[in-house]
Amino acid sequence: MSETWNTSCAVCGRRYHICNACQKIKTAKSWRTVTDTMECYQIYLIVHEYTNGTITGERARELLKSCVLPAEMQRHIKTVVDEILRFGKPDSTETDIMPDTGKTISHLGSSVNYC
Ligand SMILES: [Zn+2]
Repeated sequence: MSETWNTSCAVCGRRYHICNACQKIKTAKSWRTVTDTMECYQIYLIVHEYTNGTITGERARELLKSCVLPAEMQRHIKTVVDEILRFGKPDSTETDIMPDTGKTISHLGSSVNYC
């Protein structure tokens, strides 16, 4: 059987099957070569553009709000998504630190190596 899950989603990490034809179409950049669903691909693009500096955190957050976030995400994706979702929170102040982490959020500026 060659019909196996031969790749995993760049966003949620789910294994899925990609056919040889899809894999070979590099120029088309089919979303099927990156993620398992269109929803995941949208998230992938937003995270990508945000980390590239193409879009701002506020803009990324607006875009993410219209996406269906999968229950599980690759850790490096989740880190960026969490970071994006912290943008523009109306009640966020400097003293408003998550009590359960006990850590200050001071690494927002650090870039995430992706791709
Ligand atoms: Zn996915």
